[in-house]
Amino acid sequence: MKRIAIIGGGMAGLAAAHELWQLQRAGNSAFTWHLYERAPQLGGKVVTTQKDGFTVEGGPDSFLTQKPAGLELCRELGLEDELIPCNPGAQKIYVVVKGRLCALPTGFRLTVPTQWWPFIKSPLFSWRAKCRMALEPWMAPRRDEADESVAAFITRRLGREAADKIGGPLMAGIYVADPQRLSMMATFPQFRALERKYGSLQRGLRQSARQPGRRPPMFVSLRGGMQQLVDTMSAPWRDQCHCHTAITRLTHRDGTFRLEGDGVGDAYDHVILACPLHETAQLCGEVVPAAASLMRRVRYVSTATLSLAYRAPLTGLNQSLDGYGFVIPASERQRILACTWSSVKFTDRAPAGHQLMRVFIGGGEQEVLVEQDDAALVAIARDELRTLMGVESAPLWTQVHRWPQGNPQYDVGHPARMRAVMQAVADLPGLHVAGSGYQGIGLPDCIRSGRSAAAAAVDSNVWKNPAATIPRLG
Ligand SMILES: Cc1cc2nc3c(=O)[nH]c(=O)nc-3n(C[C@H](O)[C@H](O)[C@H](O)COP(=O)(O)OP(=O)(O)OC[C@H]3O[C@@H](n4cnc5c(N)ncnc54)[C@H](O)[C@@H]3O)c2cc1C
Repeated sequence: MKRIAIIGGGMAGLAAAHELWQLQRAGNSAFTWHLYERAPQLGGKVVTTQKDGFTVEGGPDSFLTQKPAGLELCRELGLEDELIPCNPGAQKIYVVVKGRLCALPTGFRLTVPTQWWPFIKSPLFSWRAKCRMALEPWMAPRRDEADESVAAFITRRLGREAADKIGGPLMAGIYVADPQRLSMMATFPQFRALERKYGSLQRGLRQSARQPGRRPPMFVSLRGGMQQLVDTMSAPWRDQCHCHTAITRLTHRDGTFRLEGDGVGDAYDHVILACPLHETAQLCGEVVPAAASLMRRVRYVSTATLSLAYRAPLTGLNQSLDGYGFVIPASERQRILACTWSSVKFTDRAPAGHQLMRVFIGGGEQEVLVEQDDAALVAIARDELRTLMGVESAPLWTQVHRWPQGNPQYDVGHPARMRAVMQAVADLPGLHVAGSGYQGIGLPDCIRSGRSAAAAAVDSNVWKNPAATIPRLG
């Protein structure tokens, strides 16, 4: 009987375990499996706390529906009725410009205006920038497949001001990355595909908006927070998961892998490594050194999220809470990256008469801030909320979550590097990798990669050439 080990109990490792369990339920009894997780609990970056009627997310607070793996998993787990959309009544996103919050005009699709009147009226951009953005359909399209940075792409299509005010905080912000280094092909290949197909982003977005069919809300969460997905998924096979168990060494001899770690010395035929790349590299250095050295080149940065629970109304507030929150361009030189108005974005995140805010700190040049103690981080967050929104109220309580070396950086050239990693991993039959370091940091990407790795472990014909699954432009 085939023996399979999963190392790492974040979303990718859990999705791999779910896939194995599903295959067993469907009648495949030709394998056994175990999951090893270093932390005391499952979930990795997914951490939800319930406190005093508030639902606090330490990591992800929602997932994208356009990539189907997240919704599909929820449906399989019977969680469809538990899905909640972002508040449709307060969809604004603000950008900080010269120290003030300025709403993104209606109809903006990440960086591209699709409705002209709100765009023309918006004080967010200078007239010069508006004229440059309006010229986008006449800019010569790029049709090759070479990578470039997000900043280079937006500057090329929409001009420098759009790159600074929108591209940086909105697009690169999702990845807590420097837009000058962030790979366009690894993060937003769909925009390059639109440019290639339609010659212009505006034309492309207008065409795709015309396609018939009802679209689900772009982002959804679960009533009990993202942890509900972890708990529901793992409930049937929780006893096959070994928490508090760090794997420290992986060796391979005569077709068998041996795991070493906290009280572990077990042999397996297949191993799925579902850890961050720097930790995976450490584990697979002896068995696939070429892959490990490529993995080590992927940088990770540290961030922290701070949740602040308030009694409403907030004293001093000079900003209406009518959106999901705000992002801050690097040129504004603030000490926080962004703030989500969590109890507005999802209306059930705070009890009646209260508000919940979530502030993001760290990344890039501000990484050192994450090392400060909780009180110092809370002081920074309160200071910035006072300056930007006038908030004088003291929070009822706060929660800090740190993510040291927790955010993979998809630098320009990342897809090609990952194709090489996958090829090098595929050279050793029985070894599989999954997780946010490779082909997408979002939860749906992690779910897809975990499930694919599990399917490949069970049936080696499923994924003969994993490098071929890293998409190129269509
Ligand atoms: C603050 C924040 C907000 C985010 N927001 C969103 C969002 O809103 N929507 C979204 O889709 N995505 C979001 N993301 C991204 C997403 O949460 C992550 O990319 C995803 O959860 C990563 O899952 P993973 O399984 O790849 O890795 P992880 O969650 O990092 O799991 C890896 C696991 O491996 C374990 N491990 C490591 N080494 C070993 C070892 N040697 N032995 C045993 N176990 C080991 C670790 O303890 C960890 O539990 C966010 C991320 C952060 C940090």
